[in-house]
Amino acid sequence: RHNSQGDANFLEDETTKNFAQKVADHYSARSNQTLEEREASPIIHLKKLNNWIKSVLIQLYARRGDAVLDLACGKGGDLIKWDKAKIGYYVGIDIADGSIKDCRTRYNGDADHHQRRKKFSFPARLMCGDCYEVRLDKVLADDAPFDICSCQFALHYSWSTEARARRALANVSALLRPGGIFIGTMPDANVIIKKLREAEGLTFGNSVYWIRFDEVFSDKKFKSSRPFGTKYTFHLEDAVDCPEWIVPFDVFKSLAEEYDFELVFAKNSHEFVHEYMKRPEFVELMRRLGALGDGNQDQGTLSADEWEAAYLYMSFVLRKRGQPDKN
Ligand code: SAM
Repeated sequence: RHNSQGDANFLEDETTKNFAQKVADHYSARSNQTLEEREASPIIHLKKLNNWIKSVLIQLYARRGDAVLDLACGKGGDLIKWDKAKIGYYVGIDIADGSIKDCRTRYNGDADHHQRRKKFSFPARLMCGDCYEVRLDKVLADDAPFDICSCQFALHYSWSTEARARRALANVSALLRPGGIFIGTMPDANVIIKKLREAEGLTFGNSVYWIRFDEVFSDKKFKSSRPFGTKYTFHLEDAVDCPEWIVPFDVFKSLAEEYDFELVFAKNSHEFVHEYMKRPEFVELMRRLGALGDGNQDQGTLSADEWEAAYLYMSFVLRKRGQPDKN
């Protein structure tokens, strides 16, 4: 297969598959943590903040009875958040079979997980698959349309090639109803590229994360003619060690438009916190999660290094064009 750029350096299909496998193996190998291990994590407050961000997105956009598609659902860390939103149906897909197994265990309620809880009130379908390769409209023809799709901390894994990025957006677009919502959180390319340019070499970071770009980007110039396949290695202490790809936001936005999405908003995590911590219900949620500091600062209980790592991410909300059915 040819890519539209006809670029000889462009990742070949096999290489892309190998990278996808690498990502899958990485996440599959990450075992479930006990509550004690989780609390001892050097990024526990960052994890709490990220859970708060996802909860806010879900509370803002999920409606009672919604059919939900969770792309790259991982171990099902958001199941409880969806349950609180009283959704009607849930489909979760992830490339890592180890994660899907954990997700199934969590859904069935027989894990020693975070808390003993009653069963989830919605039916769920959990599947292992590559969301950026497979035609999900075919696989999920009987489950569609969905009211809301979520892709949390994972859409950037589709940006290795144009074909995969397109498949990701085409899948979501084909499965959402008109007026349906697509929410997600992913690395903020503007922040990462700014930090790369400020760095002396091709690596930068702090005590909780580092990012290393490949030698091919030693001039630190990103050609707008090649917006896919800009790879870096991301290490987040106690969480991630993976090849990842830059998602230039303007390209993401215009590609999304091609697939009938309009942008509702996009916000860096710092801005997101600042904005939604103005609302008492979300302040209360932050307090319950244990990430609310004692001052007036957005940083809450995060260390300075965790707060800087939070700055690497942004959230987006897209809406599928069209009017929802009246009935
Ligand atoms: N969304 C979950 C959450 O917020 O807790 C998991 C986030 S984790 C940082 C990234 C997830 O993306 C992993 O579970 C990984 O297996 C999944 N992933 C990466 N590439 C994928 C692909 N091509 N198809 C499906 N899932 C993928």
